Amino acid sequence: MNYSDSARIKVWLQNLWWEYVANVDEADVVIFDTCSVRQKSEDKISGILKDIPKNKKIWITWCMIQHDLNPGKFFWLKWQKFKRGNFLPETNENPEIIWLNKIEKKERTLLNSKQELWNYVFVNYSYIPIFTTFIKKFPNLELLFRMDDLHHLPHILTKLGYDIKQTEDKLKNYLSIIPENPNFDFTNNSKSAFVPIQIWCSKFCSYCIVPFARGLEKNRDIEEILNEIKFHLKNGKQEIILVWQIVNKHKDFLEILKKALKLEWLKRLRYTSPYPTYYSDEIFALHENEEKLCPQIHIPLQSWSDEILKKMNRWYDSNQFKEFIYKLKNLKREISITTDIIIWFPNENEEDFAKTIELVEYARFDMIYMGLYSSRPLTLADKLYKDNISDVVKEQRRKKLNDLLKQISGKNNEKEIWKIKDILITNIQDWIGMWYDDKLKSFLVKGVDEKSLNNFVKAEVINAYPLKLEAKIL
Ligand code: SF4
Repeated sequence: MNYSDSARIKVWLQNLWWEYVANVDEADVVIFDTCSVRQKSEDKISGILKDIPKNKKIWITWCMIQHDLNPGKFFWLKWQKFKRGNFLPETNENPEIIWLNKIEKKERTLLNSKQELWNYVFVNYSYIPIFTTFIKKFPNLELLFRMDDLHHLPHILTKLGYDIKQTEDKLKNYLSIIPENPNFDFTNNSKSAFVPIQIWCSKFCSYCIVPFARGLEKNRDIEEILNEIKFHLKNGKQEIILVWQIVNKHKDFLEILKKALKLEWLKRLRYTSPYPTYYSDEIFALHENEEKLCPQIHIPLQSWSDEILKKMNRWYDSNQFKEFIYKLKNLKREISITTDIIIWFPNENEEDFAKTIELVEYARFDMIYMGLYSSRPLTLADKLYKDNISDVVKEQRRKKLNDLLKQISGKNNEKEIWKIKDILITNIQDWIGMWYDDKLKSFLVKGVDEKSLNNFVKAEVINAYPLKLEAKIL
C-alpha cells in the first residue's frame, strides 16, 4: 500500500515541476513515507534520519506523524489543537499550517524552554511527541504532513516559501492523484501496479494500531478505481493488484473484480488482503472460472484457537475459517493459499498453538508470514495482556511452524514440476528476487537475460524446493 502512496507523492511533486531522483545524494528533499504497524519501524527512524546529510531537507508523512500512541512525556498535555491527525476529516479547503514557533509561549515552554525558533512545520495537527525531540536533533527536518493532505502540497509548499508553479489545489482528495508506476521501484518498465480500493480500517483487532495510526475505513468510488486501473493498463501495466487492509469488504468488491476482468490489456488480477467472512459464492465462482483472476489467495488466519481469536478481536471463529478453506480446496481450479499467523500472542498456551498447527496441516498453506507479536502502546491487547510467553517457548513455536511450513511447501511445490508457467521476471541479480507466477510462487529461472526483465516469460518447472521452484525458459 505504501508503494502506491509513495508513487502518489512522486507524481504530485512532478506535477509541480519537481524532479524525482532515486539517490539521496542527488536530492534536495528526502521524503519518508512511514509505517508504524510494527514497533521496530518506529525504533529505526531515528537511525535512518541520522544518515541524511544536513544539507538535505527532510519531510515525513504517514502513520508515524499522525498517531499519538506513544505515552511520552507530553502525553498528559491536553492541548486542544493536538488532536490525532488521522481522525480529522479530509479538508477541501486549505489545511491549517502550524509552525512550532507560532505555538503559544506557554505551550512552547513546555516543549522546550531553550529553543526559541523552530523552522519545522506540521500540517493539520499531524504530530506525535517523538518529533519534538527529532527537531532538536535534525534541524533539517522541515515538514510533517498527513497523507490526507497530500493534494494540498502546492498550498503547503508555497507557505513554506517554495516557488511553486501550480498554486491551486483542484483535487477532491489525495487518492484522486493517479500515480504513475505504483510498484516496488517506481519503474516504467514494471508490469505491475498496486491500486488501493479502500483506505484504512475499522476492525480494531486488539493487537493492531492501523485504525489509530491511519484512520477509519473508507471505500473509494468504483468509477475512480476503474479509471485508475484503466490508466495503468493503457500505460503498459498487465498485472493489477487491488490492495487494502480488508480488500473484499468494499461494498462493490464483486463488481470491481468483474469490471476489471473485462478490461483490455489485463493479464492478471489479484488482490490482498481479504477477510474470510466477506467472501461470497460469486467471488469463489470467479476464482474458479476467470483465468485472469489469479489462483492465489492470501488470507490472514492469525490463530486457529477460538480463545485467542476472541482475544485478538477477530470477527470469525475456527469453524468459519475452516469452512472457508474447505470451499477453496473444493473449487475445480486449484488455488494457492497463503496466510499470516501471529505467533507469541500473550496467553497462547500449548493447546491454542496446537490448534493452529492442526489448521496449518489441513490448509496446506504455500506460505505463512509469521508475525512475531509485539505490543503496540494503547491497543487493547497492550492494555489487557502481558507478554507472558518465555523466550524458550517462543523459539520452539517459531521453529515448529517454520519446519512445518517448509515441509508442506516442499510437497506442494513438487506438484508443480513439469508445468508450464508464465513467470514475471522482476529481478535478475544472482538468481535472487521476486520472479513469480500466477500463484505468487517464487522462482529461480534459468536462461533469463536483460530482455526478460519486467516481462512475462514462458518457462517449464524443473525442480521444486521448500518455498522456491526452479524453471527453465522455453
Ligand atoms: S483487519 Fe485488524 S489487523 Fe488488519 S488492519 Fe484492520 S485492525 Fe489491523
